[in-house]
Amino acid sequence: MSDQPTFAPRNNYKNLAPRRGNLLGTNTHIAVVGAGAFGGWTALWLRRLGYRVTLIDAWGPGNSRASSGDETRVIRSTYGANETYFDLNVRAIELWREHQHRWNKSLFFNAGVLWFCYDESPEMIEATQPFMRRHGLEYQYFSPQEAAQKYPHINTADLHHLVLDPYGGYLKARESCQAVQEAFVRGGGAYVNAFVQPNKIEKGRLTSLTLSDGSTFAADTFLFACGSWLGKLFPEVIGETITCTKQEAYYLGVPASHTQLFDQMPAWIDLDGVDFYYGIPGNAYRGFKIGVDKRGERFDPTNGERIANPDVLAKARAFMSHRFPALKNAPLVESRVCPYENSPDGNFILDTHPEADNCWFLGGGSGHGYKHGPALGEMAAGIVSGKRDLENLFRMR
Ligand SMILES: Cc1cc2nc3c(=O)[nH]c(=O)nc-3n(C[C@H](O)[C@H](O)[C@H](O)COP(=O)(O)OP(=O)(O)OC[C@H]3O[C@@H](n4cnc5c(N)ncnc54)[C@H](O)[C@@H]3O)c2cc1C
Repeated sequence: MSDQPTFAPRNNYKNLAPRRGNLLGTNTHIAVVGAGAFGGWTALWLRRLGYRVTLIDAWGPGNSRASSGDETRVIRSTYGANETYFDLNVRAIELWREHQHRWNKSLFFNAGVLWFCYDESPEMIEATQPFMRRHGLEYQYFSPQEAAQKYPHINTADLHHLVLDPYGGYLKARESCQAVQEAFVRGGGAYVNAFVQPNKIEKGRLTSLTLSDGSTFAADTFLFACGSWLGKLFPEVIGETITCTKQEAYYLGVPASHTQLFDQMPAWIDLDGVDFYYGIPGNAYRGFKIGVDKRGERFDPTNGERIANPDVLAKARAFMSHRFPALKNAPLVESRVCPYENSPDGNFILDTHPEADNCWFLGGGSGHGYKHGPALGEMAAGIVSGKRDLENLFRMR
């Protein structure tokens, strides 16, 4: 596992020969295990393609153990030199807008994303420029002085400049997972609440699952979108490919005199190159959120206690006092521990089990997957049903 933040995963796997899964007939029964951002959206798109789909989750969509279980997630256009994720995000934004309108729920908040830049030309932002131009998009640049006028609660003195991505913002995370699952069921999908174990592979196919009530569940095709649990379910195939780390997010209580300033600002990301702090306003009134993208210690997503590490918290508070002086004495009003499901290079994984072509894996969100849910789900449904080639960047190596 790389301990580097994965704001811009590597992009050097374009040259594999194309590969496509078996084309599935419309009477195929597909079981999707995991109702997080990846499994939920994929199940919804598979159902829309006309398949019989059962979505199974041990603790429910957007539950507190899942990576998708926090209040909010950042959605940003910026992806360094990685065009695949840039394009996926453009489609995701389109789909978030369309679905919140369709479901009459506010899920995407187009507040923008403000980047705190220490260098003249951070690659993370500048390498994205050609893709921005191709889509007719443009960032806004501010000197520290200009930014201090626009955002008087931010200390900009140590920054080279600030960049606003006006197309991004934040998403309601756990709530969106529930909205997706509800839409899936309304559209004729079946939802089962159970922990599953895959049964044996026979003659190149996975035939069934064992559910936590001891029953056997059969289907024709299986997609495991189990987040941090994926490696544990298939230890021999992806045991060490997906690793789980403990990540922390803190909600600070903003002084009453400053609530408007903090509530109405963009999401933000600090490009310090070490801790990569980021933050999000408007968290269902939970407080002003700061997250730490630096990889934490290994974590057990089932039994791990969700208690914040005092050292990580103290460092984050010191940063916040520096960057947002009004928060110097702000109380911690809530904290969350969420698992990252890290792939070795930060790229997602969407591929078949090497011994069973009806058994698919989807995961490796690596701290940046949530925003892509609707577009990744659309792509995954096309790939799993055999209607489009696998995405080379997401294949297991
Ligand atoms: C602190 C933190 C901050 C992040 N910030 C961002 C961000 O700002 N922007 C962004 O885009 N992304 C972000 N991410 C990443 C993003 O949240 C994840 O990549 C994404 O949520 C992964 O979704 P998933 O569906 O793969 O996994 P999960 O959400 O973990 O879902 C997996 C589901 O599978 C179920 N499951 C597992 N095993 C079994 C089993 N055996 N049987 C039945 N059910 C099972 C679980 O209950 C769970 O619901 C962040 C992640 C964390 C932890």
